[in-house]
Amino acid sequence: MFRAPGLALLLAVLLGVVGSCGVVAEEPRTVVALTFDDGLESQLAAVDLLREHGLRATFYVSSGLLGRDGRMTAGQVRDLAEAGHEIGGHTLTHARLPTLSLRAQRREICDDRRALTGLGLAVPTLAYPYGAFDRSTAGLASECGYTGARGSGAGASGDPFNLPTAPAVVRTTSLATLQGHVRRSGLVTLVFHEVCASCGEYSVDPGVLAAFLGWLAVQPGVEVRPLGEAMRGKEAG
Ligand SMILES: [Zn+2]
Repeated sequence: MFRAPGLALLLAVLLGVVGSCGVVAEEPRTVVALTFDDGLESQLAAVDLLREHGLRATFYVSSGLLGRDGRMTAGQVRDLAEAGHEIGGHTLTHARLPTLSLRAQRREICDDRRALTGLGLAVPTLAYPYGAFDRSTAGLASECGYTGARGSGAGASGDPFNLPTAPAVVRTTSLATLQGHVRRSGLVTLVFHEVCASCGEYSVDPGVLAAFLGWLAVQPGVEVRPLGEAMRGKEAG
């Protein structure tokens, strides 16, 4: 004879379901990396929303621009890391890398990373400003100590220095579009800039972001991880 509670428990284990909250223990179908570029002060609104939903993101900052008008200070960036978010490099001055000499590119990438690690931050990945890079740029990113980098396109399978990235979120990007990206499998990297209502082409409305994060946080088979951590998970798997 079956003992129903025992059978239910067995099924729960087989399905990889822990408890009643729908947390799936097996490898997720989709890993979402939420990335915020340029160290913009308006992104602090997103930090509150992320905390509310227990989500962690990656913030790509240009060390040479910290503290400028509309940008976060070094202290605010350190606070993000202390709150569990990941910090990534975005070059010293937000340079369009392939237009520079190798020497200048190295300075932009390596000196930026050195400045950020000097603040006590782990800086595992780079986001190429404007998504612009070529082979030598990617080689320099590795030389400067990065384990991966994000452009702004579909990426190249198996190339950690050309990670797949969904089209940047703009003012007109709808909640349905954001949800559509997450319905794909594998690594889904989303790129945000300003977080404010209609404050520029590259912005997301805090209301849309709040609705999206609330939805994202409870999707079965979907895990949200900072990008560097998502990469390490992939290597381990
Ligand atoms: Zn940027």
